[in-house]
Amino acid sequence: PYSGPSGDEILAKRKEYLNPSLLHLYKNPVNVVEGKKQYLFDENGRRYLDAFGGIATVCCGHCHPDVVDAIINQTIRLQHSTVLYLNHAIADFAQSLASKLPGNLKVVFFTNSGTEANELAIMIARLYTGCHDIISLRNAYHGNAAGTMGATAQSIWKFNVVQSGVHHVVNPDPYRGIFGSDGEKYARDVQDVINFGTSGNVAAFISEAIQGVGGIVELAPGYLPAAYSMVKKAGGLCIADEVQAGFARTGSHFWGFESHGVVPDIVTMAKGIGNGIPLGAVVTTPEIAEVLTRRCYFNTFGGNPVCTAAGLAVLKVIEKEKLQENALHVGSYLKERLTALKDKYELIGDVRGRGLMLGVELVTDRELKTPAKAETLHVMDQMKELGVLIGKGGYYGNVFRITPPLCFTKEDADFLADAMDLTLSRM
Ligand code: PMP
Repeated sequence: PYSGPSGDEILAKRKEYLNPSLLHLYKNPVNVVEGKKQYLFDENGRRYLDAFGGIATVCCGHCHPDVVDAIINQTIRLQHSTVLYLNHAIADFAQSLASKLPGNLKVVFFTNSGTEANELAIMIARLYTGCHDIISLRNAYHGNAAGTMGATAQSIWKFNVVQSGVHHVVNPDPYRGIFGSDGEKYARDVQDVINFGTSGNVAAFISEAIQGVGGIVELAPGYLPAAYSMVKKAGGLCIADEVQAGFARTGSHFWGFESHGVVPDIVTMAKGIGNGIPLGAVVTTPEIAEVLTRRCYFNTFGGNPVCTAAGLAVLKVIEKEKLQENALHVGSYLKERLTALKDKYELIGDVRGRGLMLGVELVTDRELKTPAKAETLHVMDQMKELGVLIGKGGYYGNVFRITPPLCFTKEDADFLADAMDLTLSRM
C-alpha cells in the first residue's frame, strides 16, 4: 500500500514550490500513485479507467512490462549521451523507426520532447529553403519554445513577446469552419497567404493530421493534398506533426497524415513514442538532413540509450499486441456509442475523431454552437467520481478528449460511454 504524502500535502507543496501556472483538471485533483495498462490508481487504491493517458505519452499501457524491462536492462548497463560515442540502442531504434515511414524518410534526429522536435524541424526547413516564413493552422499546437510557440495558434498558449515569422491560415474545421467539409476551399487561404503575406516563397507548412490540444479537430478531407501542393510550388517543405496522432493511435494507419494521402518532407513525433519516457524525433530525407552538416548540431540527451531502448520496445509491443488494429476496432466501437449519446442529448454538438483519438464537443445551443464550458467541467468531474478519467481541449475548453492507451478494450469503451450517459442523464 501507498505510504507517501496525501493529495492535499502534494497540492500544498505544488502551490509553494512549483510553476504557478500549472494546470490540473479537477476540483479535487487525483493523486495518482500507480499505473497498470489502461488503469491508474490513487493513494487509496481506487482504480480509474484512464481515457486520457495517450496524450500524456502512454501508448502501450502504463508500465508495460516489455518497456519497463528494456528501460531497466539499459539503465543498469549504461545511460549516457549518445553524441560522442557509438552505442547500438540509438542505431537500432533509428532503423526500426525509419522502416515505419514511407518514401525516402529515412534519417532520424532524436530530441527530448515534441517542442524540441518541432523547433528542429522548423530550423531544418528554414536552412534548406533559405526562407523564413512558416505557414501554420489556426487552432494548432506545436510546442512552447520560441519558434514553436509562434507556430502554436491559440492565444491561451502564447506569450506576447514571441517573434515568430509564422502566418496562421484558416482552420479546415468541418464542425466550426465556414466551408464545412470542403477541404479544397479552406486550402485557398494557403495560396492567399503565400501570395499576399510572403515574398511568394516559404520555408514550410506545419500541421497536425488531427488537432489534439485544439479539441480533436480532423482536418477537412482534401485539405492537406491541396495545401501541400501549394506549399511545394512556393518552394516550402511540408512538416507533419505526429506528436499526438502518430504511433498507431488513429487505428486505420500508423501515422495520421497517411489517411490524408500525403507524404510529408519532415515528420515530427514525441509522446507515444516512448510510452512515458521523454523522447522525441524528427525524421526527414537524406537530402534535407544534409543541411545540418553546415554547422555542428548537438543535443546531449537526444537519443540516449535508455530512451531509445524504450522506443524500440514500444514499436515491438505495438506490433506484437496488434495495438493499431485494436485502436481501429475499439475506437470505431466507442465512436458509435458516443454518436448514439449525441442522438440522446442535445448538449452534444459533435462527435469526431479516428481510432482512439476521439472528441465530443458540448454546446448549449446546437444552431449557434455556443460552447458549453461549465457543463464540460461538470461532466468531467462527475465521470471522475464514477472512475473514468477523460481530458478536455479546444479553444473554448468545451471538447472532451478521449485518447486512452491503445490497449483499451470494448468493455472499457462501454464503461466510459455508460459513465458519460449516466452523468448526462442526471443534468
Ligand atoms: N505537437 C503537438 C501536436 C502536441 O500536442 C504537443 C504537446 N501537447 C507538442 C507538439 C509539444 O510536445 P511537448 O509537450 O513534448 O514539448
